[in-house]
Amino acid sequence: MNADLVVVGSGLFGLTVAERAANELGLDVAIIDRRPHIGGNAYTENEPQTGIEVHRYGAHLFHTSNERVWDYVNRFTDFTDYVHRVYTRHHDEVFPMPINLGTINQFFRAAYSPAEARALIQEQAGELAGTDPQNLNDKGIQLIGRPLYEAFIKHYTGKQWQTDPKDLPASIINRLPVRYTYDNRYFNDKYEGLPVDGYTAWLERMADHPRIDVRLDTDFFDEGHDYSRAAVSGQVPVVYTGPVDRYFDYAEGDLSWRTIDLEQEVLPIEDFQGAPVINYPDPDVPFTRILEFRHFYPQRDYTTDATVIMREFSRFADKGDEPYYPVNTSVDREKLLKYRDLARGEDKVLFGGRLGTYKYLDMHMAIGAALSMVDNKLKPHFTGGATIESGGVDA
Ligand code: FAD
Ligand code: UDP
Repeated sequence: MNADLVVVGSGLFGLTVAERAANELGLDVAIIDRRPHIGGNAYTENEPQTGIEVHRYGAHLFHTSNERVWDYVNRFTDFTDYVHRVYTRHHDEVFPMPINLGTINQFFRAAYSPAEARALIQEQAGELAGTDPQNLNDKGIQLIGRPLYEAFIKHYTGKQWQTDPKDLPASIINRLPVRYTYDNRYFNDKYEGLPVDGYTAWLERMADHPRIDVRLDTDFFDEGHDYSRAAVSGQVPVVYTGPVDRYFDYAEGDLSWRTIDLEQEVLPIEDFQGAPVINYPDPDVPFTRILEFRHFYPQRDYTTDATVIMREFSRFADKGDEPYYPVNTSVDREKLLKYRDLARGEDKVLFGGRLGTYKYLDMHMAIGAALSMVDNKLKPHFTGGATIESGGVDA
């Protein structure tokens, strides 16, 4: 065993830590992943029959307003000028999403000005206008009024989370902008785009360093390899980006996660839906959305004989399923506090990433948090001899 640092998980958090540790701190880094590929959930591969790049774990759109993160990712890839726009199909009619003046006017068969639309929504938000709701249901009604909430949010959220929106945090819906203009961009960030030659090329470049040893199909908790928990525990600093509850053998109970069943289909037509993502907010449709991958790269010379689509079905994760989204109910948050205490007591282990902190992190947030961990924890330790202190799973 000759690594200075072991990174568990090769998602964007782990890759960023490993890349900085090798390039900036001059360390020998082992990065292990239980999957057969690097990149975590951002991994993509070309569908063999069509050559169309498919996002193996659901659509990944890169966006950020963080200058440091944008500079950092541009070292490994250029980005296309792709701008994400989503449509939603309600009662066999297609509306622009997120909710904007176009959605409002189409829904109410009207031609409201921005001020008229605001006044209408305020009236429809009724008793919740001007309050500070903490749950998704009340926040949604406050933001867009009851009729739009019930058409576009209520059942979609129910399908996606299988949890009463009253028990979900308002922060989930805060991710979606509401605009009183016809601007239907999905994200508000300053920078947006897709990696020109695909996600996997980008992710592989991050790990391409003589001091980085990547071991795939390698689970931290399996014994019999150089970088197992049994082999490295307490001896070499570890950055752990797997599920925090798994690390502690579920001592405080299971944290709840949502997983997604992704059903991929190759169709013998050029274009199925004319857009990269169409949402299905009605309760009688079992899936939440359909992705059509060719539309992520209109500049590529893809075949016109076939197209690849993917339907997303969301459900609670069991052990053995891929944990995708932290559900984050109040019960989960209580358990998480206990896991944070346990993490604080763990010698030479830092917890990071979406699974390690039980937080919904977009890619740019995972990268930003990893850069901070390198600055605030790893650099002081490796250059000045400071002890490695987890500071909890929020580190
Ligand atoms: P992950 O990518 O989950 O990587 C963790 C890695 O750890 C995995 O590869 C896993 O195999 C490995 N691992 C776990 N346990 C072990 C173990 N015991 N031993 C070895 N390896 C282990 N972000 C955006 O910015 N835009 C989007 O559009 C977007 N869409 C998303 C859609 C979906 C369906 C999902 C699930 C996420 C999406 N994200 C998106 C978030 C994005 O995937 C994350 O920000 C990013 O994956 C964070 O990286 P991470 O390293 O924390 O975790
Ligand atoms: N949402 C919704 N209807 C939509 C799109 C989103 O109700 O058509 C809600 C849903 O609760 C979702 C949240 O808004 O979880 C955030 O949307 P985003 O697209 O960021 O969700 P993600 O796919 O990342 O969960």
